[in-house]
Formats: sequence, structure tokens, C-alpha cells
Amino acid sequence: MITLDDTIAAISTPLGQGGIGIVRLSGPEALAIARRLFRPADPAWRDKPEPGRLTYGHIVHPESGEVVDEVLLAVMPAPHTYTRQDVVEIDAHGGLVPLREILGLCLSSGARAAGPGEFTLRALLNGRIDLAQAEAVADLVAARTQAARRLATGQLQGGLSQRVGALRQELIEVLAYLEAVVDFPDDEIPQRDIAPELAHVGEALRALLRDADRGMIYRQGLRTAIVGRPNVGKSSLLNALLRAERAIVAEVPGTTRDTLEETMDLQGIPLVVVDTAGIVASEDVVERLGVERSRRSLAMADLVLLVVDGSLPPSSADEEIAGLIDGQPTVVVVNKRDLAQVADYCQLLPDAPHVNVSALTGAGLDELEDTLLETVVG
Ligand code: GDP
Repeated sequence: MITLDDTIAAISTPLGQGGIGIVRLSGPEALAIARRLFRPADPAWRDKPEPGRLTYGHIVHPESGEVVDEVLLAVMPAPHTYTRQDVVEIDAHGGLVPLREILGLCLSSGARAAGPGEFTLRALLNGRIDLAQAEAVADLVAARTQAARRLATGQLQGGLSQRVGALRQELIEVLAYLEAVVDFPDDEIPQRDIAPELAHVGEALRALLRDADRGMIYRQGLRTAIVGRPNVGKSSLLNALLRAERAIVAEVPGTTRDTLEETMDLQGIPLVVVDTAGIVASEDVVERLGVERSRRSLAMADLVLLVVDGSLPPSSADEEIAGLIDGQPTVVVVNKRDLAQVADYCQLLPDAPHVNVSALTGAGLDELEDTLLETVVG
């Protein structure tokens, strides 16, 4: 059961150590709880808390009188707040312990711990934002590139809602006309050709769905596998690409100790690259291991970079790895173009684009980036 009439509280900033951290309250008791815990430097606040102003003071344990933290407190009365309820924000010091203690005092003073996303749920249910905007809040918080942030901000400001609203209005008008014709057949209702109107709405909806697919790519990114046999330069290529982009957005350890996820920003599209390179193995198993690793990262990939070494003749391992690619868009990267080239590899995946690069010198990386973008957006 969703309830809106109690008061919820949560630590609204990430847990960890930071300069400040915020405990937020929303609901009818928010101000009463704040009064109970907050000792303002200016006692006049008690009689007349100024809405929307930060007030300096302390959070004090209501029974022991112990000062828990020095804070700034903001009171935001309904309805002009994020949740359309009374909201109180307590700006405390951003350590886990003070924030937990302040939250604990709020809970023991009558608040309930908010569930994930519950403030935004209240904003939605109280009609401050619609569903598209609530989704945009989540997208904005999770945005990994500037382009993703821009899409989310546009949606939060009501861009999508307005487009859907306009189409809905057109359909309502068509429906009103149809009902009028059916209900009042004797009235002289001017004839109207609704087929082009419906076709227009249909086309606009299809365009919205296409945008949604593109939006999904910007939001979630594309899992990208860099595969190839050992020593062709996969790690070097990843590093060169990350350096060129100068945007290592995230560095999260993968499921096993020897995989690493990095996100690179390809003109706004987050490419989540799983780097399985760097495992040390004895010479005899190295080839087999390369194939195995490629198989693993290929299984999860939306996009593939197949790296080969242009200074060496093609080997059966290149063919074998190419054979593992399961229909994903692929770019063949012929690396080490700074060395004498002994093969052009055009027989390897002849339908995929081939780009000659040097991960060592950075030559060809711009072209690779353009080709990737074409492959992804196409
Ligand atoms: P991986 O096993 O496929 O990840 O390959 P590495 O990135 O570890 O590279 C293997 C070796 O090739 C290293 O000694 C790199 O310095 C070298 N290497 C990588 N890219 C290039 C390149 O473009 N040109 C030259 N000359 N050497 C490269």
C-alpha cells in the first residue's frame, strides 16, 4: 500500500565522507519534527520559521540535550516543494555517522524511513511531475555523459510530456468528431477527413518510438567488446581510446578480479568497455585463453571491436574469434600501422568496416571513432 499522509525521511546524499550531507523530510509532520530536533541560533525562528531560507543552528538530541551536529536547515512549506508536501532539509556534515544519527532522531520523532525513490513517487502522485518526468529524474541521476544528461533534462522540463500531450489532444478531437457523427446523425456536422489526421498521429508516434530507441542508447550505453588474439594491442587500444576521450566516467571492478569495466564517451554515447586483458598466463595456454576471453565478452556485447595485428600475417585464431561474433555490429581494427604492414586483413569479415590504426602513436583513432559512431547510429 502506498501512503502519502505520513512523514518520510532519508539521507538524500550519497553515503560516504563528504563536506555536507542532507537529511530530507517530507510530509505533514516535517516541520514539527524539525522543531523538536533543531536549536536555531536565532530563537525567533521558533515562532516564525522563514520559508525557503537556510537557518543556522544545531541538531540536538531531544532527551539528552547533546549536540549532534552543526547544521543549516531549510523549511519549504507545501505546496511549492518537490513533493508538494511540507519539506524540511537538514544540511549536516557529510559523514555517515552524523547523518545516520540525525536520520535516527527523525525516525524516533515520528518519521518513517523513505523507500527508494519515494520522494519522487510523492512528487508524481501529487501531480507535480508526470511519469515521463519521474523517469527523467532517474535518468538524470544516472546520466553518464553530457548528452544523456541533456536528454534527461529536456524530458524533466516536460519535453516528452508536451509532445505526447499534443498527440493525445489531436486524438481526442478526432474521437469527439466521431462520437458527434454517431450520436447526432441528423445534425449537419461538417464532414471531416480524419484519415490524414490519424496518419499524422501514427507517424509522430513512430518517430517518438525511434527517439526512444536512441534515448535508450544514450541512457544505458552500449556494451562494447574489444576482442582479438593476445598481443594484437587490445589493452593499448582501450587505453588510447580512453586517453583520446579524456573521459573515464566510471571504473567499476567487474564480476571477476581480472575484468574491468570502463565507460568511454563516444560523442555522448556511453560505451561500456569490458576489458578482459591483462591476465598473465603461461605461453602455451595464452592463445586458448585469448579465444576464451573473447567468447566471454562477446556473449554480452552490443558492439564489437575485432583487433588484429597488421604487422603479422592473419592466423587461424583471428578467424576463430571472428566466427564467435554473433551478428553484433563489428568494426575490424587493424592495429600497429606504424610498423611495416604484411597483411590488409580485407578477407576477415569483409562486410564490416576496417580501420587502420596505431594504438601506440594514436594514428587513425579519429577515423575509428567516426566509424564507430556511424556503425552505432546507423
Ligand atoms: P593485448 O594482449 O591484445 O591486450 O595487447 P597489448 O595492448 O598488451 O599489446 C601487446 C604489445 O603490442 C605491447 O608490447 C604493446 O606495446 C604493443 N603494441 C600495441 N599497439 C601497438 C601499435 O600500434 N604499434 C606498435 N608498434 N606496438 C603496439
